[in-house]
Amino acid sequence: MKLAQESPLTSEVLVRVAVDAPLHRFFDYRAPAMLAPGTLVAVPLGRRRTVGVVVASGVAAQIDAARIRPIEQALTDRPVLAPALMDLAAFCARYYHHPMGEVLAAALPPRLRDPKPYRPVRAHVSLTAAGREALARLPARARARRGVLEWLAQHPGATREQLRAALPRAAALLPQLERLGWLARAAAAAAAAPADSTGPPLTPEQAAALPVLEEGLGRFGAYLLHGVTGSGKTEVYLRLLQSALGQGRQGLVLVPEIALTPQFEAGMRARFPGRRVVSLHSGLSEGARAEHWLAAAEADILLGTRSALFAPLPRLGLIVVDEEHDASFKQQEGLRYSARDLAVVRARQAGIPVVLGSATPSLESWQQAERGRYRRLTLEQRAVPGALPPRARLVDLRREPCTGGLAAPVREALQENFHAGRQSLVFINRRGYAPVLYCPGCGYVLPCHRCSARLVWHRSSARLKCHHCGHQEAVPAACPQCGQPDLVLLGQGTQRVEEALAELLPRARIRRIDRDSMAGREWAGFGEAMRAGEIDVLVGTQMLAKGHDFPALSLVVILDADGALYSPDFRAEERLFAQLLQVAGRAGRHGETGHVLLQTAFPQHPLYAEWLAGDYAAFARRQLAERARLGLPPFMHQAVLRAEAPRMENAMRFLARAADAATAPRGVRLLAPAPAGMPRLGGLERAQLLVQAADRAALHRYLESWRPVLETLRPQVARWHLEVDPLFS
Ligand code: ADP
Ligand code: ZN
Repeated sequence: MKLAQESPLTSEVLVRVAVDAPLHRFFDYRAPAMLAPGTLVAVPLGRRRTVGVVVASGVAAQIDAARIRPIEQALTDRPVLAPALMDLAAFCARYYHHPMGEVLAAALPPRLRDPKPYRPVRAHVSLTAAGREALARLPARARARRGVLEWLAQHPGATREQLRAALPRAAALLPQLERLGWLARAAAAAAAAPADSTGPPLTPEQAAALPVLEEGLGRFGAYLLHGVTGSGKTEVYLRLLQSALGQGRQGLVLVPEIALTPQFEAGMRARFPGRRVVSLHSGLSEGARAEHWLAAAEADILLGTRSALFAPLPRLGLIVVDEEHDASFKQQEGLRYSARDLAVVRARQAGIPVVLGSATPSLESWQQAERGRYRRLTLEQRAVPGALPPRARLVDLRREPCTGGLAAPVREALQENFHAGRQSLVFINRRGYAPVLYCPGCGYVLPCHRCSARLVWHRSSARLKCHHCGHQEAVPAACPQCGQPDLVLLGQGTQRVEEALAELLPRARIRRIDRDSMAGREWAGFGEAMRAGEIDVLVGTQMLAKGHDFPALSLVVILDADGALYSPDFRAEERLFAQLLQVAGRAGRHGETGHVLLQTAFPQHPLYAEWLAGDYAAFARRQLAERARLGLPPFMHQAVLRAEAPRMENAMRFLARAADAATAPRGVRLLAPAPAGMPRLGGLERAQLLVQAADRAALHRYLESWRPVLETLRPQVARWHLEVDPLFS
């Protein structure tokens, strides 16, 4: 018996592995010993090697055992993905109709997705007892060494990366200090005695919301914290985190922007000195991301962008999703998941509360609150006493003459503000822009006669197309409503704005910020330059709308917002409303009243009235009524099949064949293939086929039967994919 057990042949077991490949099945391999589910392995797959995650061990062979190949190597000696994460991944694979192996790979930080063994770097540094003594007796002239020791004393649980960021010259000293035994490295830092500092006394609204949330700790519940800009939602999160931490649990805080994490992180550290705060976002190096991901397991608070949702958090007690409406929570490639929606799933699986916070919640979340599925908590007042809301007004483009895209009152306001030595922000809303034809005489925008959508003008064919149902028509000779002959393209001419500003204010220091100039340091750079008064006029897109605080900014001008009112994307208004509220919140944060001017050809549009009144609830009511009437989300569940090909007709033909390949049951509707909202990208033409159903389960049953059929079609397209709950159409 003993011999047999030790024989290498019989002690081998079969393990079932989810491999990182676009295949909807598991593969079995031979392994020298049982491997716990969640263990990472390197395996051969065809001619390549790839990383995989063990899903089961000791399984029975499904094919001839002799043909089963051995794993190459176990990459970890213990499961890296705990059962809770395997459950979350399994949900994700089912819900997004995505291969489990690719879901698991997406859950891992990039470095762990590599089939090379990963040796964790010991990321954390902390002061030893000898280090503390040294700090007490080191002479003042040992400035550099004292600096490092002092910093470490103040930042327990810090990583080397953080130390290097704070003290760039410290790196050179570390080996020496380690040799002296003054500091030690660890995979994760031990927590010092927690000495959470207290925040300001709560406002009455915060004080009313907090106990409701605290009472919900320890079981599943979804809460929508609807608080106007500046109402102090962060303070509510911090207090609630403190309670969860006090119960020995971990908190996960998801934020939309990398740019916001350092700011948030600093706030957290100040509030929770001695607690282990770990951050996770794509701004970190690959090595640091892997380290932080693994360190999350022992963290008290994990702060990160959407992918942090998949981090290992064995004692998770609370999830917070700040700015829950933000589109960056939706992954736009590969596994196209919504971190906000999955946060609710993870909370339910873990039996803990999830708090979704926003001044302008997504209509999906708002509707969940209306239906009583989420509990709504409201903060209507600004937290800082005396903080005044800005004064906003519309500039009617039908009445005011325009030069270089700027209306006369806007030009005057910009000049006046500049001469008064104050800063202005010119916000250009390019997102959601699609060329639609409108009549300057009566404001009519050409609609599709079959859909709620507006027709989009296509330059290549010089025709109007509906992006919803695929209908096409010629450009009419005159406005169908009032007969005026000259229809114009909405949104044209914004390119001139920058030049016009330079002409208008030749002596002003104008700085443009957009997606391209946003990488890395530039971001911090312009914020500092603004605060230092080195910029007079900041020009930019929606990226400027978020979370910045510029004390001397007193005028905000919004251009080109109208495009969103008549966009073929039904979510464009929702995004515009959120942006407008946020942008307006940038003006006059300190003392002085801020001014906001919005140029529009449609001053009578209800969205602008709702915005001027700061009335999100009215906006949501109107939009939800319209969505219900037109059969759009959140009343309808959607999935979209997208295809890209060098030529549009190939993409369209694939979609047409896909639609024919499986008949949709009652209650599931397939729309006709249509060009995508952005019909051409990166040299490829894009088309899409929308599938919708009022019943989510019916939609998913259909997708489950449809997807395998799609794989048999041998598509003559560059690529295709299925997306569930698409955000952009
Ligand atoms: P929100 O995220 O809701 O827009 P913040 O959390 O950024 O608002 O808070 C806005 C400002 O109000 C911050 O400067 C914050 O420090 C301050 N603040 C929050 N709560 C209080 C409070 N209870 N008393 C005084 N100031 C507060
Ligand atoms: Zn249509």
